[in-house]
Amino acid sequence: MKRKLVFATNNVHKLEEVREVVKDSFDILSLKDIGCTEDIAETGTTLEENALIKIHYVKEKYGYDCFGDDTGLEVDALNGAPGVYSARYAGDGHDAGANMEKLLKELQGVTNRSARFRSVIALILDGKEYLFEGEIKGRIIESKKGTAGFGYDPIFMPEGYDKTFAELGNDIKNNVSHRALAVKALCSFLEKY
Ligand code: IMP
Repeated sequence: MKRKLVFATNNVHKLEEVREVVKDSFDILSLKDIGCTEDIAETGTTLEENALIKIHYVKEKYGYDCFGDDTGLEVDALNGAPGVYSARYAGDGHDAGANMEKLLKELQGVTNRSARFRSVIALILDGKEYLFEGEIKGRIIESKKGTAGFGYDPIFMPEGYDKTFAELGNDIKNNVSHRALAVKALCSFLEKY
């Protein structure tokens, strides 16, 4: 029988991306599928801590083996900010537009635009915890371009491309992105498990 794992996220974009990468390696249940509609507070100070907080919450409250991801956009000229605080860079409320505006403002006149997305996935399976990571380098462009994806995608141009993630669309993003790489590492671990 195919393995079923809960993905500890309420983000429909993440769910869609991860399902596309996982294909039929295993079945994914969403938090909605298990009746969890609450927001899991991300109180950690690292991506690893936040990914672990998400899986502990689901395991302790709902009893399911699961995985969860936490992602940060690390900008070199800002010493790695917004990093683990990417979701609330412009304040609470998860407003991608405001977050991007703030970042573009901080980088006004800055020539070093290099940045990376880093995703950490935590997995809890049969009482043990595992971490997987994916990273993609790129740069922050001067203004938003494209409509696909979510979050900071319209201002992030991955290395080797002259389009943003939001212009490239999910087919390309899901082959090369930080999250795709972390999910592929998770899948190959599960295949050997
Ligand atoms: P979290 O992993 O949900 O905490 O995401 C942190 C922040 O990064 C949020 O503002 C997300 O919208 C943003 N984010 C996460 N993954 C991506 C991505 O793949 N592309 C662009 N922004 C992202």
